[in-house]
Amino acid sequence: MVDVLANWRAVQDRIAEAAQRSGRSPDAIEVVAVTKGVPVEVISPLIKGGIAAIGENRVQEARAKYAAADWRDQIQWHFIGHLQTNKVKQCLEIADLIHSVDSLRLLQEINRRAEAMDLDQVRVLLQVNVSEENTKFGFVPSEVPKVLEEAVSCQRVVIQGLMTMAPFEEDPERTRPVFRRLRLLGEKLEQKGFPGFEMKYLSMGMTNDFDIAVEEGANLLRIGSGIFGHR
Ligand SMILES: *Cc1c(COP(=O)(O)O)cnc(C)c1O
Repeated sequence: MVDVLANWRAVQDRIAEAAQRSGRSPDAIEVVAVTKGVPVEVISPLIKGGIAAIGENRVQEARAKYAAADWRDQIQWHFIGHLQTNKVKQCLEIADLIHSVDSLRLLQEINRRAEAMDLDQVRVLLQVNVSEENTKFGFVPSEVPKVLEEAVSCQRVVIQGLMTMAPFEEDPERTRPVFRRLRLLGEKLEQKGFPGFEMKYLSMGMTNDFDIAVEEGANLLRIGSGIFGHR
């Protein structure tokens, strides 16, 4: 049996230590508990333990849990996986924040659906493929300014920051340049200023590398196996 509450406390301790090392306040760092593959009854104790957001990467699975969980209104529901345009409507019905907008076409479809559903301010992040791996979704860093310019016409959408996934490294220290590059990109974009864009969230850091991500400025961590064990 995995003790998710004990794991959650250990994760909080690691965050506090990383924040202290880098002179940051741990209160400025939010955790999204990644619950893909985890049944509702295993998540429930964590809700009482103070988790504020959960992250899912499949729309069907997220909706099934949303329907089943009596704590659905006590937390935020974040979508963190690749989103197909034909699932946007179903996603918007439950998601508070979409971390994984990875194409202009998807952004425009979210805007179109939001209008049809009379949603005003759909919150999203742009996924950036910092390491420019062919196997990864996301914009390459040099595309992002152009995307933000095009996004000005998407008036139902608010872009609240950037998300990235670092490549898996045995030595998490090696992910540092990826996280640093995302932070610097965010700072550059913030200086330039784009309508409908606010540099509020840097979503980066997973179980293997979140300490490094915190040191590099992450304020939204996506942590799955560190809380729920390997599945
Ligand atoms: C699964 C997943 C995570 C969590 O990964 P862990 O290594 O289990 O912490 C974070 N982000 C995304 C996009 C994921 O799909």
